[in-house]
Amino acid sequence: MDAAQKPPEQVFDWLDAEADRRAEAGLTRRLNPRPASSAELDLAGNDYLGLARDKRVAGAAAAAALRWGAGATGSRLVTGSTELHAELEHELARFCGFQAALVFSSGFTANLGAVTALSGAESAIVTDKYIHASLIEGCRLSRAGIAAVAHSDAAAVEHALATRRTDRALVVTDSVFSVDGDLAPLTELSTACRKYGAALLIDDAHGFGVLGEGGRGAVHAAGLAGQPDVVTTVTLSKSLGAQGGAVLGPRRVIKHLVETARSFIFDTGLAPASAAAALAALGVLKSEPDLAGKVLANAARLSEQLTDAGFRVSRPDAAVVSVQAPSADEAVGWAARCIEQGVRVGCFRPPSVPDGISRLRLTARADLSESDVDTAVKVISACAPPRAATS
Ligand code: PMP
Repeated sequence: MDAAQKPPEQVFDWLDAEADRRAEAGLTRRLNPRPASSAELDLAGNDYLGLARDKRVAGAAAAAALRWGAGATGSRLVTGSTELHAELEHELARFCGFQAALVFSSGFTANLGAVTALSGAESAIVTDKYIHASLIEGCRLSRAGIAAVAHSDAAAVEHALATRRTDRALVVTDSVFSVDGDLAPLTELSTACRKYGAALLIDDAHGFGVLGEGGRGAVHAAGLAGQPDVVTTVTLSKSLGAQGGAVLGPRRVIKHLVETARSFIFDTGLAPASAAAALAALGVLKSEPDLAGKVLANAARLSEQLTDAGFRVSRPDAAVVSVQAPSADEAVGWAARCIEQGVRVGCFRPPSVPDGISRLRLTARADLSESDVDTAVKVISACAPPRAATS
């Protein structure tokens, strides 16, 4: 048929063909709404410190919505900046040890803004090949020359920096990788950047609140906070239990982002309720510095017990513990059986996993008791597909 004569009801037929292909490969995705209250043991969310439902945090959000309104009413440069945003930026920068911070409406837009504003067609970007999707999109949008090197390989990063053809270079990495929860070699990456005059951008979404002194993050723990060539991004939606994201770095970098980052300038500001929730959660983090340690203790217990039960488990560098599954289909069935048995677990399949290996993704929260962890391990073991556990 002449393409110009296609009837309107056939214009989206290609979507069905693609959906069929995904279904055949076991990669159909479904929304799975959770009820407002449930007795489920939650090992799927990213509320690492258990603060999303904390009354101090949720109460601050409710009060801010009543005081400032349900939304920010405009972009940050027009009407969307409130005193709450300014205070949150000040407190985040101070807590994490940076000169300045800039709050975005999500961690995703913070990453897009940081990468695109700090590179361009004239730059070279060197990334770990397993960086988060939001950083990948930022790299693509930047129009820079991109070298995506082997996972956690600082020598490969150094080689790419040494052989680049442009003066301006940016190294981009996650601090803690979101699928397996492993820690990047931050010290070695910083050394390589120093040697070759490159800037280092670290997404600390999964380190902030969990690693470093009192939860100041992986970048702080590596001694890189406040360095003149280091920029970090965080999300407010994991450890802080709120919503939103931020970029932290030297004052001149933050000024540059305010003036040039398109995902900041052309986006409605973060809702005041979310800013207030993040501020309150930061207050909790400051007053309870042992929260981060509880997450790590639970992650270690979870990983040890699952390893003992014969599963292939990732090294628990932070809150995320991942367990390999034999196939995408079996991972989905496994997760569904766990949920039926009252333990909610995450299920990561291609294309969300960079190496094609499907996994259950578990998160060890600070507010899980030891017996919660033991129960979770029992349920996961009982629900496992035959080939998942090797013992
Ligand atoms: N970076 C990493 C490493 C993440 O895991 C995520 C969230 N999955 C983000 C950025 C995006 O953050 P947000 O959910 O706040 O948009």
